Amino acid sequence: MHGTRASLSLLLASGGELPITYLVKQSIVTLDMEGVLTPEIWIAVAERTEIDALRLTTRDEPDYDKLMRHRLKHLNENGITLSGIQEVIGGLEPLKGAVEFLDALRERTRVIILSDTFEQFAAPLVRQLHWPTLFCHSLVVENDRVVDYRLRMSDQKRHSVIALKSIGFKVIAAGDSYNDTTMLAEADHGFLFCAPETVVSQFPEFPAIDDYDNLLAAILKLA
Ligand SMILES: [Mg+2]
Repeated sequence: MHGTRASLSLLLASGGELPITYLVKQSIVTLDMEGVLTPEIWIAVAERTEIDALRLTTRDEPDYDKLMRHRLKHLNENGITLSGIQEVIGGLEPLKGAVEFLDALRERTRVIILSDTFEQFAAPLVRQLHWPTLFCHSLVVENDRVVDYRLRMSDQKRHSVIALKSIGFKVIAAGDSYNDTTMLAEADHGFLFCAPETVVSQFPEFPAIDDYDNLLAAILKLA
């Protein structure tokens, strides 16, 4: 009782900042989607359309805006429509073991998928993952042509982790690529999962794990 009152007065005195040490700290896991739970959507589109320029991903180009401008240019030059891309995505499945991994994780802790994909792309894959919460971006579409994209906010993965920490969660994050590294750095614990050697060697501070069983065990040890 005394502790609760002390927490409340501390909370008021701090102008709303949570006195986290007084509370039970629960964990939450933030996961990248493509490359961690699902195939890379753009690589699937590149394969189906045979446009090699679309093979470039966040693994190759760290500047996301530059990468997206490159993608939009090649989509439009080749007359690729949103419905064409959605047809490709509709034929994709989560990576082998991803559904079981995510289900097992969600039995033990909370999970949010933080992805730089777009809501117009994500639904067929998120449905197969049993509808986890997904934060992502959106595309601007005119007459079935992707003309632009809108970030929900810039550096949303990192900002989401900051926000979750601000409400008292211990954040454990995993991703495979350059666009995950600010999220991993901001989290209480960050893991690289199935990351390419270039990313692993540039970010030796994040333990690199290559299979779901070991990632699940590593996360649950901390959760
Ligand atoms: Mg990824």
